[in-house]
Amino acid sequence: MRLVLLGAPGAGKGTLASSLKNKFGLTHISTGDILREEIKNNTPLGQEAKKYIESGGLVPDDVVTKLIEHKFLNDKQTELGYMLDGFPRTKQQAEDLDKILVNIKLPIEQAIYMEATLPVIIVRLIGRRVCRDCGELFHIKNKPSIKEGVCDICEGELYQRSDDNEETIKTRLDVYVKNVTPIISFYEAQNKLIKLNADNDSAKLQENLIRILNEDKKLD
Ligand code: AMP
Repeated sequence: MRLVLLGAPGAGKGTLASSLKNKFGLTHISTGDILREEIKNNTPLGQEAKKYIESGGLVPDDVVTKLIEHKFLNDKQTELGYMLDGFPRTKQQAEDLDKILVNIKLPIEQAIYMEATLPVIIVRLIGRRVCRDCGELFHIKNKPSIKEGVCDICEGELYQRSDDNEETIKTRLDVYVKNVTPIISFYEAQNKLIKLNADNDSAKLQENLIRILNEDKKLD
């Protein structure tokens, strides 16, 4: 399966990707995760990306597109199937992505549009906690770790992302709303769009997606 996950911050893309990754052995490619890793390692790219991420804005298209191209050219696992999470975020990125993927003969099969309502998104983002070591996602109410502040998987420290605060969330959502419509139309025109109600919890969301893919015979 070669999928793109679309949806607002807090729609549950990362959580869905993490469960599909285990179930189907797909490579999970999150530009947000790649950029946060660059920041952690204090690379020149990380230093540049930091200011955009902390303000809730978008890192320039050419920078993130190069990152994605590099990932596909250097990670052979992507040939077995992938899920893109957080990319594309602009129509320009969607167009450039198509060119890259068609070139390497790994075109997108489905774009999953995860629609969630604002109150659900806010609760998810404010309560989100991330493992500093393995990146596993938790939520203080919806998916608490067994031991507070400690990852169930690897015992790493859980932290709250610096951009998961109310002010930055507002900017991130504004940026999302401004850009999403042309991206949706882009995949709709290619007949690749699947819509999911992302107010549902992650188990239900996954169940619905698998049912739709089965009905469309995409899992054969
Ligand atoms: P995420 O982890 O997907 O919520 O992304 C966190 C932040 O990384 C975003 O708010 C942007 O600043 C930056 N970012 C991630 N993906 C992209 C992208 N495709 N284009 C531009 N900026 C991005």
